[in-house]
Amino acid sequence: MLVALNVTGKALFLVRTHNQFYPVYRESKRLGKSFGFVVGKPNVCPFSSGDVESIDIDCRRCEINLATGVEFGEQPASLVSKLRQEGLANGFCPYHSLLFSSKSTEVVAMTYPYLFLPWLRESLDFNLEEYVVIIDEAHNLDTISDLGERRLSRATLSSAMSQATSELVRNILSKLQHKLSALPEVGERYLLINDPPTLEADELELLQDEYEALRAKMTEQRKIGRNHLGSVLRFFLSLREPGRKVFLNGGSLVSKNPDPAFQLDVLNQKTLPLILMSGTLPPLNYIQKVWGLTKDIEYLDVERALPTTVQGKREWLLAKDVTTSFQKRSDVMWGKYASYLMRIYHVSRANVLALVPSYEVLRKVLGRLKGINVLPEDSRTSMEDLSRAAENGKVLILAVNRGKLSEGIELTNGGRSLISDVALVGIPFPSPDDYSKLRAEAIAARTGVANEELLVRIPALIAVKQAIGRALRNPGDSVTVWLLDKRYDSPWWKARLGAFNPRKIVL
Ligand code: SF4
Repeated sequence: MLVALNVTGKALFLVRTHNQFYPVYRESKRLGKSFGFVVGKPNVCPFSSGDVESIDIDCRRCEINLATGVEFGEQPASLVSKLRQEGLANGFCPYHSLLFSSKSTEVVAMTYPYLFLPWLRESLDFNLEEYVVIIDEAHNLDTISDLGERRLSRATLSSAMSQATSELVRNILSKLQHKLSALPEVGERYLLINDPPTLEADELELLQDEYEALRAKMTEQRKIGRNHLGSVLRFFLSLREPGRKVFLNGGSLVSKNPDPAFQLDVLNQKTLPLILMSGTLPPLNYIQKVWGLTKDIEYLDVERALPTTVQGKREWLLAKDVTTSFQKRSDVMWGKYASYLMRIYHVSRANVLALVPSYEVLRKVLGRLKGINVLPEDSRTSMEDLSRAAENGKVLILAVNRGKLSEGIELTNGGRSLISDVALVGIPFPSPDDYSKLRAEAIAARTGVANEELLVRIPALIAVKQAIGRALRNPGDSVTVWLLDKRYDSPWWKARLGAFNPRKIVL
Protein backbone atom coordinates (compact mmCIF):
# COMPACT_ATOMS: atom_id res chain seq x y z
CA MET A 1 0.00 0.00 0.00
CA LEU A 2 2.84 2.38 0.86
CA VAL A 3 4.56 1.67 -2.46
CA ALA A 4 1.33 2.35 -4.35
CA LEU A 5 0.69 5.57 -2.47
CA ASN A 6 4.23 6.74 -3.14
CA VAL A 7 3.82 6.19 -6.88
CA THR A 8 0.48 7.83 -7.64
CA GLY A 9 -0.96 8.84 -4.26
CA LYS A 10 -3.94 6.50 -4.75
CA ALA A 11 -4.27 2.74 -4.31
CA LEU A 12 -7.03 0.54 -5.72
CA PHE A 13 -7.04 -2.65 -3.68
CA LEU A 14 -8.71 -5.63 -5.33
CA VAL A 15 -9.66 -8.54 -3.09
CA ARG A 16 -11.56 -11.77 -3.60
CA THR A 17 -14.36 -11.33 -1.05
CA HIS A 18 -15.94 -8.50 0.94
CA ASN A 19 -14.57 -10.04 4.16
CA GLN A 20 -11.10 -9.08 2.96
CA PHE A 21 -11.95 -5.36 3.01
CA TYR A 22 -11.35 -5.25 6.74
CA PRO A 23 -7.52 -5.64 6.71
CA VAL A 24 -7.30 -2.95 3.99
CA TYR A 25 -9.46 -0.63 6.12
CA ARG A 26 -7.37 -1.39 9.23
CA GLU A 27 -4.04 -0.74 7.48
CA SER A 28 -5.31 2.48 5.87
CA LYS A 29 -6.33 3.76 9.30
CA ARG A 30 -3.00 2.72 10.79
CA LEU A 31 -1.14 4.65 8.09
CA GLY A 32 -3.44 7.67 8.42
CA LYS A 33 -4.77 7.32 4.84
CA SER A 34 -8.35 7.97 3.80
CA PHE A 35 -10.20 4.76 2.94
CA GLY A 36 -13.25 3.97 0.84
CA PHE A 37 -14.81 0.87 -0.64
CA VAL A 38 -17.39 -0.27 -3.14
CA VAL A 39 -19.60 -3.31 -2.60
CA GLY A 40 -21.95 -4.77 -5.17
CA LYS A 41 -25.48 -3.43 -5.47
CA PRO A 42 -26.94 -6.75 -4.30
CA ASN A 43 -25.24 -6.31 -0.91
CA VAL A 44 -26.07 -2.69 -0.22
CA CYS A 45 -29.22 -1.83 -2.17
CA PRO A 46 -32.01 -1.65 0.43
CA PHE A 47 -34.47 -3.27 -1.99
CA SER A 48 -32.30 -6.25 -2.88
CA SER A 49 -32.83 -9.70 -1.38
CA GLY A 50 -29.04 -10.24 -1.61
CA ASP A 51 -28.93 -13.23 -3.99
CA VAL A 52 -29.50 -11.14 -7.12
CA GLU A 53 -27.01 -10.14 -9.81
CA SER A 54 -25.92 -6.48 -10.00
CA ILE A 55 -27.02 -6.25 -13.60
CA ASP A 56 -30.60 -7.11 -12.59
CA ILE A 57 -30.93 -4.02 -10.39
CA ASP A 58 -32.29 -1.30 -12.65
CA CYS A 59 -31.42 1.99 -10.96
CA ARG A 60 -32.95 4.14 -13.71
CA ARG A 61 -36.42 3.66 -12.27
CA CYS A 62 -35.48 4.01 -8.62
CA GLU A 63 -36.95 6.89 -6.62
CA ILE A 64 -33.90 7.18 -4.34
CA ASN A 65 -31.26 7.17 -7.07
CA LEU A 66 -29.29 9.94 -5.37
CA ALA A 67 -25.71 9.90 -4.08
CA THR A 68 -24.67 11.55 -0.85
CA GLY A 69 -21.29 11.88 0.90
CA VAL A 70 -20.31 8.89 3.07
CA GLU A 71 -17.99 9.04 6.10
CA PHE A 72 -15.88 5.86 6.06
CA GLY A 73 -15.24 6.09 9.79
CA GLU A 74 -16.23 2.56 10.76
CA GLN A 75 -15.42 -0.90 9.52
CA PRO A 76 -16.95 -1.85 6.14
CA ALA A 77 -19.40 -4.58 7.26
CA SER A 78 -21.14 -2.41 9.86
CA LEU A 79 -21.11 0.64 7.57
CA VAL A 80 -22.93 -1.34 4.87
CA SER A 81 -25.78 -2.35 7.17
CA LYS A 82 -26.04 1.20 8.54
CA LEU A 83 -26.19 2.68 5.02
CA ARG A 84 -28.92 0.24 3.96
CA GLN A 85 -31.13 1.50 6.78
CA GLU A 86 -30.24 5.17 6.44
CA GLY A 87 -30.62 5.16 2.65
CA LEU A 88 -34.16 3.90 2.93
CA ALA A 89 -35.09 6.26 5.77
CA ASN A 90 -33.48 9.39 4.30
CA GLY A 91 -34.02 8.79 0.57
CA PHE A 92 -30.51 8.25 -0.81
CA CYS A 93 -28.85 5.33 -2.57
CA PRO A 94 -26.19 3.57 -0.48
CA TYR A 95 -24.51 2.03 -3.54
CA HIS A 96 -24.12 5.23 -5.53
CA SER A 97 -23.09 7.08 -2.37
CA LEU A 98 -20.27 4.59 -1.72
CA LEU A 99 -19.18 4.83 -5.33
CA PHE A 100 -19.25 8.63 -5.35
CA SER A 101 -17.43 9.00 -2.02
CA SER A 102 -14.75 6.39 -2.79
CA LYS A 103 -13.54 8.42 -5.75
CA SER A 104 -11.96 10.96 -3.43
CA THR A 105 -10.22 8.60 -0.96
CA GLU A 106 -6.55 7.61 -1.12
CA VAL A 107 -7.25 3.88 -0.74
CA VAL A 108 -10.25 2.11 -2.29
CA ALA A 109 -11.16 -1.55 -1.82
CA MET A 110 -13.25 -3.54 -4.31
CA THR A 111 -13.68 -7.15 -5.35
CA TYR A 112 -12.16 -8.65 -8.53
CA PRO A 113 -15.25 -8.38 -10.76
CA TYR A 114 -15.02 -4.58 -10.70
CA LEU A 115 -11.81 -4.77 -12.68
CA PHE A 116 -12.18 -7.95 -14.67
CA LEU A 117 -15.80 -7.80 -15.86
CA PRO A 118 -15.83 -5.08 -18.54
CA TRP A 119 -19.46 -3.99 -18.00
CA LEU A 120 -18.93 -3.63 -14.25
CA ARG A 121 -15.61 -1.81 -14.72
CA GLU A 122 -17.24 0.67 -17.07
CA SER A 123 -20.18 1.20 -14.71
CA LEU A 124 -17.74 2.44 -12.03
CA ASP A 125 -16.52 5.34 -14.13
CA PHE A 126 -13.22 5.40 -12.19
CA ASN A 127 -10.17 6.89 -13.87
CA LEU A 128 -7.86 3.89 -13.39
CA GLU A 129 -4.83 5.94 -14.44
CA GLU A 130 -4.99 7.76 -11.09
CA TYR A 131 -4.33 4.54 -9.17
CA VAL A 132 -1.81 1.82 -8.59
CA VAL A 133 -3.89 -1.34 -8.75
CA ILE A 134 -3.00 -3.89 -6.06
CA ILE A 135 -4.34 -7.39 -6.61
CA ASP A 136 -4.42 -9.27 -3.35
CA GLU A 137 -4.20 -13.10 -3.37
CA ALA A 138 -3.16 -12.77 -7.01
CA HIS A 139 -2.72 -16.54 -7.46
CA ASN A 140 -6.52 -16.48 -7.94
CA LEU A 141 -5.96 -14.92 -11.36
CA ASP A 142 -5.28 -18.46 -12.54
CA THR A 143 -9.00 -19.20 -12.35
CA ILE A 144 -10.15 -15.78 -13.54
CA SER A 145 -12.13 -17.38 -16.39
CA ASP A 146 -14.61 -18.57 -13.74
CA LEU A 147 -15.60 -14.93 -13.11
CA GLY A 148 -16.98 -14.51 -16.60
CA GLU A 149 -18.72 -17.87 -16.83
CA ARG A 150 -22.46 -18.15 -17.41
CA ARG A 151 -24.37 -21.22 -16.23
CA LEU A 152 -27.68 -22.67 -17.32
CA SER A 153 -29.30 -25.46 -15.34
CA ARG A 154 -32.69 -27.14 -15.39
CA ALA A 155 -33.42 -25.56 -12.00
CA THR A 156 -32.76 -22.08 -13.46
CA LEU A 157 -35.06 -22.85 -16.37
CA SER A 158 -37.84 -24.02 -14.01
CA SER A 159 -37.52 -20.86 -11.93
CA ALA A 160 -37.51 -18.74 -15.11
CA MET A 161 -40.68 -20.52 -16.28
CA SER A 162 -42.42 -19.62 -13.07
CA GLN A 163 -41.40 -15.96 -13.55
CA ALA A 164 -42.48 -15.77 -17.21
CA THR A 165 -45.92 -14.33 -17.91
CA SER A 166 -46.07 -15.14 -21.63
CA GLU A 167 -47.04 -18.58 -22.86
CA LEU A 168 -44.60 -18.21 -25.75
CA VAL A 169 -41.65 -17.64 -23.42
CA ARG A 170 -42.71 -20.55 -21.23
CA ASN A 171 -42.72 -22.78 -24.31
CA ILE A 172 -39.22 -21.63 -25.27
CA LEU A 173 -37.96 -22.39 -21.76
CA SER A 174 -39.71 -25.75 -21.67
CA LYS A 175 -38.08 -26.73 -24.98
CA LEU A 176 -34.68 -25.83 -23.52
CA GLN A 177 -35.41 -27.88 -20.44
CA HIS A 178 -36.05 -30.97 -22.55
CA LYS A 179 -32.78 -30.44 -24.39
CA LEU A 180 -30.87 -30.18 -21.11
CA SER A 181 -32.54 -33.33 -19.79
CA ALA A 182 -31.22 -35.26 -22.79
CA LEU A 183 -27.59 -34.40 -22.00
CA PRO A 184 -25.42 -37.05 -20.31
CA GLU A 185 -24.46 -37.04 -16.61
CA VAL A 186 -20.79 -35.97 -16.32
CA GLY A 187 -20.29 -35.14 -12.64
CA GLU A 188 -17.44 -32.78 -11.77
CA ARG A 189 -15.56 -32.85 -15.07
CA TYR A 190 -16.12 -30.49 -18.01
CA LEU A 191 -17.38 -32.01 -21.24
CA LEU A 192 -17.26 -29.86 -24.39
CA ILE A 193 -20.67 -29.53 -26.08
CA ASN A 194 -20.05 -28.86 -29.74
CA ASP A 195 -23.68 -28.38 -30.63
CA PRO A 196 -25.25 -26.56 -27.66
CA PRO A 197 -28.92 -25.51 -27.61
CA THR A 198 -29.42 -22.10 -29.19
CA LEU A 199 -32.25 -19.58 -29.47
CA GLU A 200 -33.47 -17.86 -32.62
CA ALA A 201 -33.26 -14.05 -32.74
CA ASP A 202 -37.04 -13.66 -32.25
CA GLU A 203 -36.98 -16.06 -29.27
CA LEU A 204 -34.19 -14.04 -27.67
CA GLU A 205 -36.18 -10.87 -28.24
CA LEU A 206 -39.23 -12.32 -26.49
CA LEU A 207 -37.08 -13.43 -23.58
CA GLN A 208 -35.44 -10.01 -23.40
CA ASP A 209 -38.85 -8.27 -23.24
CA GLU A 210 -40.02 -10.54 -20.41
CA TYR A 211 -36.77 -9.99 -18.56
CA GLU A 212 -36.90 -6.20 -18.86
CA ALA A 213 -40.52 -6.14 -17.72
CA LEU A 214 -39.75 -8.21 -14.64
CA ARG A 215 -36.68 -6.11 -13.84
CA ALA A 216 -38.70 -2.90 -14.03
CA LYS A 217 -41.52 -4.37 -11.92
CA MET A 218 -39.14 -5.46 -9.17
CA THR A 219 -37.57 -1.99 -8.91
CA GLU A 220 -40.95 -0.26 -8.92
CA GLN A 221 -42.21 -2.58 -6.19
CA ARG A 222 -38.96 -2.02 -4.23
CA LYS A 223 -38.53 -5.77 -3.94
CA ILE A 224 -35.64 -7.02 -6.05
CA GLY A 225 -35.14 -10.78 -6.01
CA ARG A 226 -33.32 -13.16 -8.31
CA ASN A 227 -34.30 -12.63 -11.94
CA HIS A 228 -34.00 -16.11 -13.46
CA LEU A 229 -35.17 -14.88 -16.85
CA GLY A 230 -32.07 -12.68 -16.83
CA SER A 231 -29.83 -15.67 -16.04
CA VAL A 232 -31.20 -17.57 -19.05
CA LEU A 233 -30.95 -14.54 -21.32
CA ARG A 234 -27.36 -13.77 -20.35
CA PHE A 235 -26.28 -17.35 -20.94
CA PHE A 236 -27.40 -17.12 -24.58
CA LEU A 237 -26.10 -13.59 -25.10
CA SER A 238 -22.69 -14.69 -23.78
CA LEU A 239 -22.38 -17.17 -26.66
CA ARG A 240 -21.93 -14.23 -29.02
CA GLU A 241 -18.66 -13.25 -27.31
CA PRO A 242 -15.45 -14.36 -29.05
CA GLY A 243 -13.62 -17.36 -27.61
CA ARG A 244 -16.58 -18.74 -25.63
CA LYS A 245 -17.08 -22.50 -25.50
CA VAL A 246 -19.97 -24.42 -23.98
CA PHE A 247 -19.33 -27.25 -21.54
CA LEU A 248 -21.46 -29.58 -19.51
CA ASN A 249 -20.49 -29.61 -15.84
CA GLY A 250 -22.38 -30.79 -12.76
CA GLY A 251 -25.73 -30.85 -14.58
CA SER A 252 -25.36 -27.30 -15.98
CA LEU A 253 -24.35 -25.90 -19.32
CA VAL A 254 -21.42 -23.55 -18.78
CA SER A 255 -20.32 -20.86 -21.20
CA LYS A 256 -16.78 -19.61 -20.63
CA ASN A 257 -13.61 -18.59 -22.39
CA PRO A 258 -10.88 -21.08 -21.39
CA ASP A 259 -8.00 -18.67 -22.07
CA PRO A 260 -7.19 -16.74 -18.85
CA ALA A 261 -5.40 -14.05 -20.88
CA PHE A 262 -8.71 -12.94 -22.36
CA GLN A 263 -10.07 -11.75 -19.02
CA LEU A 264 -6.67 -10.51 -17.79
CA ASP A 265 -5.92 -8.35 -20.81
CA VAL A 266 -7.04 -5.23 -18.90
CA LEU A 267 -3.84 -5.57 -16.83
CA ASN A 268 -1.75 -4.95 -19.94
CA GLN A 269 -2.88 -1.33 -20.21
CA LYS A 270 0.37 0.64 -20.37
CA THR A 271 -0.91 3.38 -18.08
CA LEU A 272 -1.99 1.00 -15.31
CA PRO A 273 0.69 0.48 -12.64
CA LEU A 274 0.12 -2.88 -10.99
CA ILE A 275 1.17 -4.86 -7.93
CA LEU A 276 0.33 -8.58 -7.78
CA MET A 277 0.58 -9.94 -4.23
CA SER A 278 0.36 -13.51 -3.03
CA GLY A 279 2.07 -15.97 -0.73
CA THR A 280 1.75 -18.49 -3.58
CA LEU A 281 2.36 -16.45 -6.71
CA PRO A 282 3.34 -18.62 -9.71
CA PRO A 283 6.76 -18.10 -11.34
CA LEU A 284 7.33 -15.12 -13.63
CA ASN A 285 7.44 -17.32 -16.73
CA TYR A 286 3.96 -18.63 -15.88
CA ILE A 287 2.56 -15.12 -15.34
CA GLN A 288 3.88 -14.04 -18.71
CA LYS A 289 2.94 -17.13 -20.70
CA VAL A 290 -0.23 -18.48 -19.13
CA TRP A 291 -1.75 -15.23 -17.88
CA GLY A 292 -0.49 -13.30 -20.91
CA LEU A 293 0.96 -10.33 -19.00
CA THR A 294 3.19 -8.36 -21.32
CA LYS A 295 4.26 -5.57 -18.94
CA ASP A 296 7.78 -5.25 -17.53
CA ILE A 297 7.55 -7.13 -14.25
CA GLU A 298 9.84 -6.99 -11.25
CA TYR A 299 9.43 -10.28 -9.36
CA LEU A 300 10.15 -10.19 -5.63
CA ASP A 301 10.26 -13.39 -3.54
CA VAL A 302 9.86 -12.10 0.00
CA GLU A 303 10.67 -15.47 1.61
CA ARG A 304 14.05 -15.46 -0.13
CA ALA A 305 14.71 -11.74 0.22
CA LEU A 306 14.26 -11.65 4.00
CA PRO A 307 16.63 -13.32 6.44
CA THR A 308 13.84 -14.60 8.72
CA THR A 309 10.79 -16.68 7.87
CA VAL A 310 7.58 -14.78 7.30
CA GLN A 311 5.39 -17.84 7.03
CA GLY A 312 6.19 -20.13 9.97
CA LYS A 313 7.84 -23.55 10.22
CA ARG A 314 7.10 -26.70 8.23
CA GLU A 315 7.89 -30.34 8.99
CA TRP A 316 7.56 -32.74 6.04
CA LEU A 317 6.51 -36.39 5.83
CA LEU A 318 6.14 -38.26 2.57
CA ALA A 319 4.11 -41.46 2.16
CA LYS A 320 5.73 -43.91 -0.26
CA ASP A 321 2.88 -46.42 -0.53
CA VAL A 322 -0.09 -44.36 -1.77
CA THR A 323 -1.08 -42.39 -4.86
CA THR A 324 -4.26 -41.00 -6.43
CA SER A 325 -2.87 -41.63 -9.92
CA PHE A 326 -5.86 -42.79 -12.02
CA GLN A 327 -4.31 -46.16 -12.89
CA LYS A 328 -3.80 -47.04 -9.22
CA ARG A 329 -7.18 -46.02 -7.85
CA SER A 330 -8.94 -48.87 -6.05
CA ASP A 331 -10.85 -49.73 -2.88
CA VAL A 332 -7.56 -50.88 -1.37
CA MET A 333 -6.01 -47.47 -2.09
CA TRP A 334 -8.94 -45.57 -0.52
CA GLY A 335 -8.62 -47.84 2.52
CA LYS A 336 -4.93 -46.94 2.82
CA TYR A 337 -5.71 -43.24 2.60
CA ALA A 338 -8.35 -43.59 5.31
CA SER A 339 -5.80 -45.39 7.53
CA TYR A 340 -3.31 -42.56 7.03
CA LEU A 341 -5.88 -39.90 7.89
CA MET A 342 -6.98 -41.72 11.06
CA ARG A 343 -3.35 -42.07 12.10
CA ILE A 344 -2.65 -38.38 11.41
CA TYR A 345 -5.72 -37.39 13.42
CA HIS A 346 -4.55 -39.39 16.43
CA VAL A 347 -0.98 -38.01 16.44
CA SER A 348 -1.83 -34.40 15.57
CA ARG A 349 -1.39 -31.62 18.12
CA ALA A 350 -4.56 -29.83 17.00
CA ASN A 351 -6.99 -29.86 14.07
CA VAL A 352 -6.15 -31.53 10.76
CA LEU A 353 -6.89 -30.18 7.30
CA ALA A 354 -7.02 -33.01 4.76
CA LEU A 355 -7.36 -32.09 1.10
CA VAL A 356 -8.47 -34.49 -1.60
CA PRO A 357 -8.42 -33.91 -5.38
CA SER A 358 -12.18 -34.24 -6.01
CA TYR A 359 -15.59 -34.78 -4.40
CA GLU A 360 -15.55 -38.32 -5.75
CA VAL A 361 -12.34 -39.11 -3.83
CA LEU A 362 -13.80 -37.35 -0.78
CA ARG A 363 -16.76 -39.75 -0.77
CA LYS A 364 -14.51 -42.81 -1.21
CA VAL A 365 -12.25 -41.87 1.70
CA LEU A 366 -14.97 -40.50 3.98
CA GLY A 367 -16.88 -43.80 3.98
CA ARG A 368 -13.80 -45.53 5.40
CA LEU A 369 -12.98 -43.13 8.26
CA LYS A 370 -13.93 -44.60 11.63
CA GLY A 371 -13.72 -43.36 15.22
CA ILE A 372 -12.55 -39.82 14.52
CA ASN A 373 -14.32 -36.47 14.46
CA VAL A 374 -14.64 -35.55 10.75
CA LEU A 375 -16.14 -32.49 9.11
CA PRO A 376 -16.53 -33.24 5.38
CA GLU A 377 -16.99 -30.38 2.93
CA ASP A 378 -20.29 -30.15 1.11
CA SER A 379 -22.09 -27.39 -0.75
CA ARG A 380 -23.53 -25.99 2.49
CA THR A 381 -20.42 -26.06 4.71
CA SER A 382 -19.66 -22.60 6.08
CA MET A 383 -16.76 -21.09 8.01
CA GLU A 384 -19.08 -20.91 11.04
CA ASP A 385 -19.53 -24.71 10.84
CA LEU A 386 -15.75 -25.09 10.95
CA SER A 387 -15.32 -22.78 13.92
CA ARG A 388 -18.09 -24.56 15.82
CA ALA A 389 -16.61 -27.99 15.05
CA ALA A 390 -13.16 -26.87 16.22
CA GLU A 391 -14.61 -25.50 19.47
CA ASN A 392 -16.02 -28.95 20.28
CA GLY A 393 -12.63 -30.69 20.23
CA LYS A 394 -10.14 -31.88 17.64
CA VAL A 395 -11.57 -32.24 14.14
CA LEU A 396 -10.34 -33.50 10.78
CA ILE A 397 -11.63 -31.21 8.04
CA LEU A 398 -11.98 -33.19 4.83
CA ALA A 399 -12.06 -30.68 1.98
CA VAL A 400 -11.58 -30.66 -1.79
CA ASN A 401 -8.64 -28.89 -3.39
CA ARG A 402 -9.82 -25.74 -5.20
CA GLY A 403 -13.20 -26.32 -3.54
CA LYS A 404 -15.20 -23.96 -1.42
CA LEU A 405 -13.10 -24.41 1.74
CA SER A 406 -9.55 -25.02 0.56
CA GLU A 407 -8.71 -21.33 0.12
CA GLY A 408 -11.03 -19.72 2.60
CA ILE A 409 -10.37 -21.72 5.76
CA GLU A 410 -9.32 -19.40 8.53
CA LEU A 411 -9.22 -21.29 11.84
CA THR A 412 -7.33 -19.06 14.25
CA ASN A 413 -7.29 -17.95 17.83
CA GLY A 414 -5.49 -14.74 18.75
CA GLY A 415 -3.94 -14.68 15.26
CA ARG A 416 -2.44 -18.20 15.68
CA SER A 417 -3.53 -21.11 13.52
CA LEU A 418 -5.66 -23.85 15.08
CA ILE A 419 -4.59 -26.29 12.34
CA SER A 420 -1.44 -28.23 13.21
CA ASP A 421 -1.40 -30.77 10.35
CA VAL A 422 -2.13 -30.57 6.64
CA ALA A 423 -2.60 -33.87 4.80
CA LEU A 424 -2.42 -33.74 1.01
CA VAL A 425 -4.27 -36.75 -0.36
CA GLY A 426 -2.77 -37.05 -3.83
CA ILE A 427 -1.50 -34.23 -6.04
CA PRO A 428 -4.17 -31.71 -7.07
CA PHE A 429 -3.43 -31.70 -10.80
CA PRO A 430 -6.16 -29.98 -12.81
CA SER A 431 -8.79 -32.46 -13.95
CA PRO A 432 -7.78 -33.88 -17.38
CA ASP A 433 -11.04 -32.86 -19.04
CA ASP A 434 -12.14 -30.88 -22.10
CA TYR A 435 -11.81 -27.55 -20.30
CA SER A 436 -8.14 -28.20 -19.40
CA LYS A 437 -7.50 -29.40 -22.94
CA LEU A 438 -8.97 -26.26 -24.52
CA ARG A 439 -7.16 -24.04 -22.03
CA ALA A 440 -3.89 -25.74 -23.00
CA GLU A 441 -4.68 -25.29 -26.70
CA ALA A 442 -5.48 -21.60 -26.22
CA ILE A 443 -2.23 -21.00 -24.34
CA ALA A 444 -0.23 -22.94 -26.93
CA ALA A 445 -1.84 -21.00 -29.79
CA ARG A 446 -1.00 -17.69 -28.10
CA THR A 447 2.54 -18.42 -26.91
CA GLY A 448 3.77 -21.41 -28.85
CA VAL A 449 4.53 -23.03 -25.48
CA ALA A 450 2.47 -25.74 -23.85
CA ASN A 451 4.48 -27.95 -21.56
CA GLU A 452 3.38 -30.08 -18.67
CA GLU A 453 5.07 -27.83 -16.13
CA LEU A 454 3.10 -24.76 -17.15
CA LEU A 455 -0.23 -26.45 -17.66
CA VAL A 456 -0.37 -29.09 -14.97
CA ARG A 457 2.37 -28.97 -12.38
CA ILE A 458 2.39 -25.27 -11.49
CA PRO A 459 -1.40 -25.07 -10.96
CA ALA A 460 -1.04 -28.11 -8.67
CA LEU A 461 1.88 -26.46 -6.85
CA ILE A 462 -0.20 -23.33 -6.18
CA ALA A 463 -3.02 -25.48 -4.76
CA VAL A 464 -0.58 -27.39 -2.52
CA LYS A 465 1.04 -24.20 -1.21
CA GLN A 466 -2.37 -22.67 -0.59
CA ALA A 467 -3.38 -25.71 1.45
CA ILE A 468 -0.24 -25.53 3.58
CA GLY A 469 -0.73 -21.80 4.03
CA ARG A 470 -4.07 -22.47 5.77
CA ALA A 471 -2.08 -23.69 8.79
CA LEU A 472 0.47 -20.85 8.76
CA ARG A 473 -1.33 -17.66 9.68
CA ASN A 474 1.44 -16.19 11.81
CA PRO A 475 5.28 -16.33 11.67
CA GLY A 476 5.14 -18.22 14.99
CA ASP A 477 2.93 -21.03 13.60
CA SER A 478 4.28 -24.45 12.67
CA VAL A 479 2.70 -27.19 10.58
CA THR A 480 3.30 -30.86 9.89
CA VAL A 481 2.73 -31.46 6.19
CA TRP A 482 1.81 -35.01 5.12
CA LEU A 483 2.53 -35.49 1.42
CA LEU A 484 0.34 -38.52 0.82
CA ASP A 485 1.38 -39.49 -2.69
CA LYS A 486 4.60 -41.16 -3.80
CA ARG A 487 4.80 -38.81 -6.81
CA TYR A 488 5.89 -36.03 -4.42
CA ASP A 489 9.16 -37.97 -4.10
CA SER A 490 10.73 -36.12 -7.03
CA PRO A 491 13.36 -33.37 -7.27
CA TRP A 492 10.82 -31.03 -8.91
CA TRP A 493 8.35 -31.20 -6.02
CA LYS A 494 10.96 -31.20 -3.27
CA ALA A 495 12.70 -28.13 -4.71
CA ARG A 496 9.48 -26.17 -5.31
CA LEU A 497 8.13 -26.94 -1.84
CA GLY A 498 11.45 -26.54 -0.05
CA ALA A 499 10.94 -30.09 1.31
CA PHE A 500 14.47 -31.30 0.63
CA ASN A 501 14.63 -34.12 3.13
CA PRO A 502 11.11 -35.26 4.07
CA ARG A 503 10.70 -38.18 6.46
CA LYS A 504 9.60 -41.15 4.33
CA ILE A 505 6.75 -43.19 5.78
CA VAL A 506 4.69 -46.28 4.94
CA LEU A 507 1.64 -47.74 6.65
S1 SF4 B 1 -31.29 1.99 -4.01
FE1 SF4 B 1 -32.10 2.38 -6.04
S2 SF4 B 1 -30.46 3.43 -7.11
FE2 SF4 B 1 -29.58 2.44 -5.34
S3 SF4 B 1 -28.86 0.45 -6.03
FE3 SF4 B 1 -30.93 0.16 -5.25
S4 SF4 B 1 -32.23 0.39 -7.05
FE4 SF4 B 1 -30.24 1.27 -7.57
